[in-house]
Amino acid sequence: MIPPAHGELPGLTAHATLADVAAEICPVYGLDERARSALRTSFRLAGGDRRQRGSDLRDLLLTADGDIAGDIEALGAFLEIFAALPEADFAAEWLTELAQAWKRLRRTGCTVDLPLRAARTLADLGSQRLLADRETLSALELEMINALAAAGMCIAELLSRDTRRGSLAMAIDDVVDQGIGKVLGRQLETAMAAGHAAGEAATIGLLVLRLRLDSSALSFDLVQRDAILDAAVERLREVLRESDLLVRTELHGCAILLPALRSSAQVQLAARKVMQALELPFVINGVVARAIFALGVVWAPDHGRRPDELIRCAELAVETALRGEQSTVIFDQQLLVEARYEADLEKEFLFALENGQLAVHLQPQVDLKTRRCVGAELLMRWRTRDGHDVPPWHIPEVAHRLGAGPQLTRWLVFSACRTLAELSEAGVDIDVSVNLMGRDLMDQELPMLLEQAINFWRVQPARLTIELIESAVLGDPVAGAAVMDKLIALGVSTSIDDFGIGYSSILYLRQLPLHELKIDRVFVDAMSRSREDKEIVAALIRLAHGLDLHVVAEGVEDERTAELLRDMGCDYGQGYWIGKAMPASAMPAWVASWNRQAG
Ligand code: C2E
Ligand code: CA
Ligand code: CA
Repeated sequence: MIPPAHGELPGLTAHATLADVAAEICPVYGLDERARSALRTSFRLAGGDRRQRGSDLRDLLLTADGDIAGDIEALGAFLEIFAALPEADFAAEWLTELAQAWKRLRRTGCTVDLPLRAARTLADLGSQRLLADRETLSALELEMINALAAAGMCIAELLSRDTRRGSLAMAIDDVVDQGIGKVLGRQLETAMAAGHAAGEAATIGLLVLRLRLDSSALSFDLVQRDAILDAAVERLREVLRESDLLVRTELHGCAILLPALRSSAQVQLAARKVMQALELPFVINGVVARAIFALGVVWAPDHGRRPDELIRCAELAVETALRGEQSTVIFDQQLLVEARYEADLEKEFLFALENGQLAVHLQPQVDLKTRRCVGAELLMRWRTRDGHDVPPWHIPEVAHRLGAGPQLTRWLVFSACRTLAELSEAGVDIDVSVNLMGRDLMDQELPMLLEQAINFWRVQPARLTIELIESAVLGDPVAGAAVMDKLIALGVSTSIDDFGIGYSSILYLRQLPLHELKIDRVFVDAMSRSREDKEIVAALIRLAHGLDLHVVAEGVEDERTAELLRDMGCDYGQGYWIGKAMPASAMPAWVASWNRQAG
């Protein structure tokens, strides 16, 4: 991909309007003209005005989930607008109205997944009205129900993006601390104008701070987040100068304007002070909370000469910090290049998905005792049109950012079943494992999707294994276990991937419905060199067997390791010594030749 000219801002920044974003993601959810017209018809036929639907929705949601926090009035107002979805047809004004009602509702402490639940309930409501107590559906009716469900999901995704983006630009008009946001906007302008007037001498710093919410251990609820942020602001006021300006922004963060500095070194110094001040844990209502923050650092005039430029650069920096390992990211032109690359990948992804550019590769797994091939792990590959290979671990991230995570999962689940069917057709009876993400597991529709795929390709469910990484399952072990139970009820197996490198407690392992444990290749790789690593692998094998799980060792790169593992009682092996991932079509010949050698 061609890198962008320096200084050019990527298209997919926080400043696209909701309507722009809707136009972009509706097709992703299959909401074309036809679906939208089906949508409008659905409620015309079903009757009921938006007020009625809103209050029905509210009643249903409250019965289904009594602990919807938040003020009933705000909830009612939001749902009433939400329920106008079929007629509103994604009109810009309606989207704005909805987003505003959502913001008000969120302030009253409601949970972030409410739009998704509302979407599902609305779709159910629509289909109930439509169906009444009939048993059959016409094609048009089916289309209407599908459109309704898709539209609901699309809205939920839009709102969650709007929330996640939490652009500082929006936040400025919307700070918790009434009015101060406007002051920051103005101050930034004033400070920059003063900087211009003073020539190159004056530097203006802007720091954007956000609470990290990605790690499950840190998933505070909205009220706790607010309390942490309040406490953080308190601390920061102590370390900042009188002339610095600090405002709370939407989205678990704050912005700090540092006017009239002598040099950029002072901005960096202030950034260090800010992060140091936040290092110690907070005590919220008598409970110790360890909060982790991300900080984006920019300064004028080097990074931008206009307030909006500076704000965008700061957002990009803080988003980079949130995504990566570093807690503080100083803006750099390279970030723009990367952001543009990511934006291009996002555009390319939908093309890839629709045009069969994602490929299925298989990596063999063998029984270490008999040496015969017993299974294969499905690993996806994506080569873009300009011939560049996207690292496979990055693909789910791109899809997720785009709101196309569910489409990717669908593709994966269907590909796994198709692969099984094709292998079986070729006379190769081996298992196939497919990697899913934690978010997939939290999707209540996963079991249904899997069932559809199994039935469609008529495969034996027992041949299919779902691999999940430990953090995916253990983030919310109760909910995770519930979905895993449903998957197992379909007859598929479950496997815990990359075991040993996460932070999770072994105790949880016992409570999960699992069949298999995969030892991460870092341990396997180090095994032949280090006694300690060999001990770890031995302990993991014992642990797994003690829990009635079978064990797969990943990263078997030489024969000696395979033998060591076999002697330690490890059941299966996977790794470059056995075979690298290959196109699925090459697998039957590989299996035949490998098994011939194995005898
Ligand atoms: P993973 O699930 O741990 O997959 C195993 C990775 O280890 C594969 O890399 C495989 O090629 C590599 N590997 C296998 N044997 C050896 C070995 O002996 N030595 C070394 N050094 N490496 C070995 P790959 O295909 O690049 O995939 C990387 C990661 O990308 C996967 O890690 C997984 O997290 C993600 N990924 C790949 N395909 C999918 C998919 O279909 N769905 C999801 N959600 N993630 C995927
Ligand atoms: Ca895996
Ligand atoms: Ca793995």
